[in-house]
This record gives sequence, C-alpha cells and structure tokens, in this order.
Amino acid sequence: MPALSTAVQVVVALGGAYLVALWFSMIVWTYYDIRARAQDIYVHFFATALVLVFNVFGLLLYFILRPRETLAEAYERSLEEESLLQELEDRPSCPSCRQRVSPDYLVCPSCHAILKNRCVAPSCGHLVNPRWELCPYCGTLQIEDPEEFEDDGDIRPAIPAVPLSVYATDVPETTGGVVD
Ligand SMILES: [Zn+2]
Ligand SMILES: [Zn+2]
Repeated sequence: MPALSTAVQVVVALGGAYLVALWFSMIVWTYYDIRARAQDIYVHFFATALVLVFNVFGLLLYFILRPRETLAEAYERSLEEESLLQELEDRPSCPSCRQRVSPDYLVCPSCHAILKNRCVAPSCGHLVNPRWELCPYCGTLQIEDPEEFEDDGDIRPAIPAVPLSVYATDVPETTGGVVD
C-alpha cells in the first residue's frame, strides 16, 4: 500500500520538523533567558549548549541551575536597598552617643544630652539648636548659659524646671525679637 506509507512518511516528516523547530526554539529561548540573567559570556554558552545537546532534559537542567533573578530585577533590588540605607543615614542621630533620635527630640533618651532647645520667646516656641545665638524663626536672642543653672555646681538639667517664659521676661535683651 504505497498511499498509506506515503501518508505515514508525511506525518513523520511533519512531526520531525515540528520537533526540530521546538528544539531550535528552546535553544533560542534559553539564549535570551540566560542573557537576561547573567553577564558572563561563558555562562551564556554553557546554558545554550546544555539545551543544544540534551534538548528537553537540558532545558530541565537549565531551569534548575539558572540564576533566580534577572539582571534587571537584581539592579532594581540593589537600588531599593541603597535608598533604604540612605534613609537610615539621613535620620538624625545623637551627637554624643550616636543613638538614632527623632528630629523633634529635645533630649537624647539614651544619654540625656541636650539636642534642641525651645525658643525663649513664648509666642514662638520653635525648636532651635543649642549652639545658635538667636532663633531663626523669630529672631529672638537665646540665653547663653544662664547663671541660675550654675550657682549650685550641679549638672545643668536638660530642660529647665522653670517655665521658659520666665527667662524671656527676666533678661532684657531677649524681649526684643527684632533683628536689624
Ligand atoms: Zn545620646
Ligand atoms: Zn523663636
């Protein structure tokens, strides 16, 4: 029966052509996939050769061995980590004990160092750096080491027990509040 055998031959030929096309597609796919995941040209060669030689079984091996992340994903992750690190660095820390503090803390909770003072002008109340001579928000001169805190030789308390408004009225130069 020559007609049947010809039909079988055609089917086998088509099947074979499909398998070859599939094999070729797997090789191309593997090549592009490994290029997205690794930079090393030898790795590209090895992965592609694996599928070229072992076909479907090579592809199976490739799936087991290939890098988990693509280069783009790894790059994105490194960017994320970097920005996270930058955020940590940007957060203020106590100048004496290096403990992380909040920007609105007056005193370090760990070592009790003075981080900020409140402006002496009662109407202002902004936080000012203890080293600043005047408040940048209202221009009021800040008191430099009031005598009241040193008379008994004790360590100066971080926050004066007396309301700050007292100093504003006691010391004449702090009542001004106007800068020329
Ligand atoms: Zn501290
Ligand atoms: Zn002020």
